[in-house]
Amino acid sequence: MENKDWKEECAVVGVYNVTNAASMTYYSLFSMQHRGQEATGISSSNGEKIVTIKKKGLVTEVFDNESLSKLKGFSAIGHNRYSTAGEDSMADAQPIFARYDLGQVAIVHNGNLTNAKEIKQELIRDGAIFQSYMDTENLIHLIARAKQENLVDRIKEAILRLKGAFCFIILSRKKMFVIRDCNGFRPLSLGEIKNADGSVGYIVASETCAFDLVGAKYLRDVAPGEMLVFSQKGMQSYNIMPSNPYPCVFEYVYFARPDSHIYGNVVYNIRKAMGEELALENPIEADLVIPVPDSGVAAAIGYSQKSGIPFELGIIRNHYIGRTFIEPTQQIRELKVRLKLNPIKELIENKRIIVIDDSIVRGTTSKQIVKILRDCGAKEIHMKISSPPTISPCYYGVDTPDISELISARMSNKEVCEFIGADSLSFLSLEGLKRSVGLKDYKFCQACFDGKYIL
Ligand code: AMP
Repeated sequence: MENKDWKEECAVVGVYNVTNAASMTYYSLFSMQHRGQEATGISSSNGEKIVTIKKKGLVTEVFDNESLSKLKGFSAIGHNRYSTAGEDSMADAQPIFARYDLGQVAIVHNGNLTNAKEIKQELIRDGAIFQSYMDTENLIHLIARAKQENLVDRIKEAILRLKGAFCFIILSRKKMFVIRDCNGFRPLSLGEIKNADGSVGYIVASETCAFDLVGAKYLRDVAPGEMLVFSQKGMQSYNIMPSNPYPCVFEYVYFARPDSHIYGNVVYNIRKAMGEELALENPIEADLVIPVPDSGVAAAIGYSQKSGIPFELGIIRNHYIGRTFIEPTQQIRELKVRLKLNPIKELIENKRIIVIDDSIVRGTTSKQIVKILRDCGAKEIHMKISSPPTISPCYYGVDTPDISELISARMSNKEVCEFIGADSLSFLSLEGLKRSVGLKDYKFCQACFDGKYIL
């Protein structure tokens, strides 16, 4: 919980027993670009050696035909790295590759280890030399030092030392290993690929939108606490930790693509339901419902359909600008909101507007949006957020800033409303969030909204 400086969160993918595995990995990473834009990388194996290419930049900037042609083989893993303020060195790009006594491994990780600091200190005391700031590197050292004879047992031994959120995909020259932590904080799905010769290949990815792009069939989610081993014998499953599912509800709120299936539900439907709940909980008279593009679109459609207030795309987004969170300084963040979003004045002028977004973190986006709508002559601006106030940082893999920067941790809703300059502000309740998600048997990690950390 205390380890905020080694956070990792991203997209991961692994492909096994597929001709030209690297190119399938490339397309999968492309479909999951929203989960990380800072750096990307692929390791592939032809059974003899592992080759890794990783670089800062978007998937389409880093890879081309020439680089992909160097990534030969039947198995590959890939990673998109999310930007984390301050730490952007190449040493922190993944996959991480290492040679050790049993051969070669490459590892990708989505999540955040909460005991990484202690383990790292212990390893350093024991003579280990670290090359990056990533908690993921711990796993390489633990595997290399484990006492067991084969890699499966070494991975099990190493994994049992780790606490926190992790989806790991580990590539050896001949096999691929997939592990999801016992709480299943971050999503991870398993799919099947039919090769041209009739043989079966496998794909594991953070989001199912990757399967749609490469033509894979969704089989199931990797279970919390499960390890999958892919080898020439096919796929084997082991339960290596007792499972206690607490998947992250913020995947539904913001992080995942709306067309992905997360924990068995289409994200778009859940976001729409959040908007419907918001309309039931917070009715208000208005002329138009408009979304903050793209994060508020599905919820705004839900709100509009439930309330009967017309939906319009009142603000248009320039898609060629990255996410506002990426820039480290407040000054640039504000400029980027203006570069990214442009209102349609004729729609807004003299209207009572309901604006929907998925969340307020620092308050920067909402404040800017209220200002540009006021500048267009909106008569009233009612900001509605399709999740509860974000009051606590995430230690399990979502990039939220320090608690001192979370506006709802410092201010009441009334004060936040004054800060952003809206006529009213309302959030979805925790109960409303639960109803929208609708999975009765599921407990979700919602620590960002209620401050209750289970680790
Ligand atoms: P802020 O401007 O700091 O209040 O951030 C709120 C905006 O950031 C909203 O439009 C959200 O869609 C978006 N957002 C929320 N969480 C994240 C995150 N972890 N990474 C990037 N953007 C986010």
